[in-house]
Amino acid sequence: MMRRCDLQGRTALVTGGNGGIGLGMARGLAEAGAAVVLAGRNADKGERACRELEAIGANATFVAGDVTDEGACRALVDKAAERLGRLDILVNNAGAANRKRPENYTLAEWNSLLQTNLTSAFVCSQAVYPHMVAAGGGKIINIGSMMSIFGAEFAAPYAATKGGIVQLTRALATAWARDNIQVNAVLPGWIDTDMTRTARRQIEGLYERVLARTPAGRWGEPDDFAGIAAFLATRASDFVTGTAIPVDGGYSVQA
Ligand code: NDP
Repeated sequence: MMRRCDLQGRTALVTGGNGGIGLGMARGLAEAGAAVVLAGRNADKGERACRELEAIGANATFVAGDVTDEGACRALVDKAAERLGRLDILVNNAGAANRKRPENYTLAEWNSLLQTNLTSAFVCSQAVYPHMVAAGGGKIINIGSMMSIFGAEFAAPYAATKGGIVQLTRALATAWARDNIQVNAVLPGWIDTDMTRTARRQIEGLYERVLARTPAGRWGEPDDFAGIAAFLATRASDFVTGTAIPVDGGYSVQA
């Protein structure tokens, strides 16, 4: 009998799975029994992340690739499917931020964020679709942000990409529901990772402001994403599609 929250025999590709939130999600998938492929640019981080997952008994491999390159995205998906024999779960997590006032971005900077945060999710989803159809269904998890909901003076392109992620999620969910592919977005609150360590250096008072506004009274940790990843990747969520679920300690519902 296959248990509802079990991922034994299932396989997952996590972009940006070599650190931060992506690694937290990969850990949740691995704990539920999935074999995982972690993708990213930094191979040292990738190997360290694999060893961490292997220490909990997981089957984990790293594949290097830059998601701003269409061919690299398609190659990542095909390599993961080849290594694991099938591909059931895709987590579109790779992302970057570049903080300044809107009037100060170059078009190259705008395009780079669009490619990293939004276009890559579309291309990887397109590439994974035939593999999921062949497997009889699949799960796609896209990573949004509080900037999917709110604005900020230092985040015009980032917010545009993360708003786009929510709409892409809804569109793919409706298109692929009959293929038994569920597509959902996760909207992290403020999580302690390399990305926000940089933000904390750049934005004075950020750490304290987030703390004061978050009902849970703390910043999030990558491990806070293990549970939502497992839920959205297992049969437990088979009738959940097109949603955008905040994982934010209550940040987005605080008046
Ligand atoms: P990290 O900087 O720790 O992780 C980002 C990951 O994306 C890294 O593993 C990085 O791998 C990968 N990545 C970035 N650019 C590329 C690229 N061009 N090609 C391949 N991989 C790439 O930050 P987080 O864990 O915080 O971020 C993960 C996701 O969560 C992002 O989408 C981010 O926008 C989102 N998020 C984070 C929040 C937070 O508070 N931390 C809040 C809301 C959303 P490598 O180092 O190998 O390039």
